[in-house]
Amino acid sequence: MPELPEVETLRRDLARRLAGARIQAVWWSGKPLRMRAPVDVGALRAMTVGRRVVRLRRMAKYLLIDTDAGGAVVVHLGMSGRLTVVAASAPREPHTHVVWSLDRGRELRFVDPRRFGQVATLLPGSAPEVGVEPLGRGLTIARLATLLGATRRPIKAFLLDQTRIGGLGNIYVCEALWRARIHPSEPARNAVVHAAPLRAAIRDVLRKGIDNRGTTIRDYTDSRGRTGRNQLTLAVYGREGEPCPRCGSLVRRQIDSNRSTFFCPGCQILSGARAFKKARKPG
Ligand SMILES: [Zn+2]
Repeated sequence: MPELPEVETLRRDLARRLAGARIQAVWWSGKPLRMRAPVDVGALRAMTVGRRVVRLRRMAKYLLIDTDAGGAVVVHLGMSGRLTVVAASAPREPHTHVVWSLDRGRELRFVDPRRFGQVATLLPGSAPEVGVEPLGRGLTIARLATLLGATRRPIKAFLLDQTRIGGLGNIYVCEALWRARIHPSEPARNAVVHAAPLRAAIRDVLRKGIDNRGTTIRDYTDSRGRTGRNQLTLAVYGREGEPCPRCGSLVRRQIDSNRSTFFCPGCQILSGARAFKKARKPG
């Protein structure tokens, strides 16, 4: 499932290839996407046909394609969405749902086998509703501490909540918590004291993910169909039963809200358990 680093990788690739491109036509497969919603192809045409791409932006996991009409096309990749730029003569692969014809005989194609993705328009001045950008200036240590302090929810659920911090998903949350040595079930407000290392861990795992051009577990490929490399560097995600790279304990998996959480039971200790251990120390 594409998270922030995968969308950012896509943005950088597409920015190079789409900047200045003129959009000539829009095609839709007629199949609904996220929440079984139809694509508003009329609005898409009004926003893009005869227009040029001005720039590409990312907000959390949303990709925004600004056009000189003033608004933007907003794309969410969902579970399995991909955007590619190919020659118009290339055969359309199955599950192609939206196609923009571009100048110079090219097409921008949105392919999404599972159809949890979204393609919509944003009017000038509007934006998707998302939380603080984790790689931006908004996520200061103080801001993160305030957000953490406001909830007793387990820290993993807090970090996945897109209305608090935008763009984090399961893989990078597991990795960030491991880096910061925080147990995924720790109540968020107990982690206020760890706001500084947690912020550093979040930014480090996201930057590393971008440097490695994303994490490919199942479907993710970039705009040219290449897989990422970051899956080769993960410390705990997908590594149940393997030794922790830091302490050698075996990585454990637990299920939270129907999703796998990977952590190290040796160096990610619940704060209650840590206090208990100390209290039992003799002398
Ligand atoms: Zn460990």
